[in-house]
Amino acid sequence: MLSVSLLMIVIMIVWGFFVPCTLNKNKKNYNQSSVVKKNEFHQSEIIKNEKFFNNAMIYSSILQRYLYFNKLSKEANIYNYIVSQDDVLGKILIEYSSSGVDRSEITLLLQQYPILRQIKKGQILSWIIITKKKLQCLIWDIFPQESRIYNRMDTNFTEGIIRSLTPLNDGLSSTILFIGELGGTFINSARSLGIEENCITDIINAFKYQLNFHKLHQGDRFAVLISITMNNNHNFNSKLLGVRLYTAGKDYYAFRANDGKLYDREAVSLRRNFIRFPTLKPFRISSNFNLNRLNPVTGQVSPHAGVDFAVPIGTPIFSVGDGEVIVSTYSKIAGNYVAIKHSCHCTTRYMHLKKVLVKPGQKVKLGDNIALSGNTGRSTGPHLHFEMWINHRPVNPLTTKVVDVDKLLGNERIIYLNKVKEMLPQLRFD
Ligand SMILES: [Zn+2]
Repeated sequence: MLSVSLLMIVIMIVWGFFVPCTLNKNKKNYNQSSVVKKNEFHQSEIIKNEKFFNNAMIYSSILQRYLYFNKLSKEANIYNYIVSQDDVLGKILIEYSSSGVDRSEITLLLQQYPILRQIKKGQILSWIIITKKKLQCLIWDIFPQESRIYNRMDTNFTEGIIRSLTPLNDGLSSTILFIGELGGTFINSARSLGIEENCITDIINAFKYQLNFHKLHQGDRFAVLISITMNNNHNFNSKLLGVRLYTAGKDYYAFRANDGKLYDREAVSLRRNFIRFPTLKPFRISSNFNLNRLNPVTGQVSPHAGVDFAVPIGTPIFSVGDGEVIVSTYSKIAGNYVAIKHSCHCTTRYMHLKKVLVKPGQKVKLGDNIALSGNTGRSTGPHLHFEMWINHRPVNPLTTKVVDVDKLLGNERIIYLNKVKEMLPQLRFD
């Protein structure tokens, strides 16, 4: 019984719920979503056997979610099948897909994943056929602890593995490992494995300063550890515990510490303390940091203690780090300007602003909109003059590495590193 509920929970969790359903399943509760044109259960055995019937329902709900995310809606057909003695995959797909399936699809899938020749009696297969007899997705439920998902991409299939690592704790929570490979964007690849949105967001936020998610490659791999808890309403909450992403010959890791934040393998926070540019995107530099510069207005040698960005008037300007506003005023030279004091003896200044949105004494966070850029004070055109000072000296804000102080220390660090030691070997790709 435990293994059956585990299986059900794993599968439900794994795909989340597009169709409302509960563990204590009542057939009448099942609402077929409008995205599915046809939903066929070929084996009368499925209907006869309550536990399998439930599984079939669950599969159908996860497949509907799949359809929803992949916008396949109208021309999709879902099939579920329980493997009998001596069954082979190709024969099953051809015989039981009443919409028809292109044989070359099956050939391609089996060529890529010969392991699919090893299906066994009692295992459940679910698949989706879309327009032109294309096999879009196949789910192979191997045993209660593991399911595999094959998704059709442009030219081939990708494989995802979903594995339950811990037995159900009082039937309420479990640790699940999702192993996937990139076939399209990271978001879609993660979704097609059934990883919940909040976990996908956490992963992207964890790596966004180290990785450009638009520059990942097909075939890049990821392994994601998620803790799933069921609440009183039979809904599931997913929490990211750890992630490994492999791209361009390098592994990237993030783990959750007891304080709820994500850190790298050395217990250094993955959250940045500073951002490089005080704008949403980098703008052209119209004048660089140069302490020996000739002033363009006076013609005299006068240091340019900051960087000028060619920013159109009215562009939102952000604080590059957490801190406190120490100046918010107008001067003949700087125009409207703001200065923010950050920790570690660092101050940033933003000049020639059109409008200032903060007051002295105000606490600001990294990324807070503090002003709109302008052309006030001694200025030859719309731009933002941006300075960074450390220990009362101007430094080049584009090259200075501001000390990252957000890391775990002492006992917290020891506890965290032990946790990492435990989770690291679990983040395998096989
Ligand atoms: Zn300047």
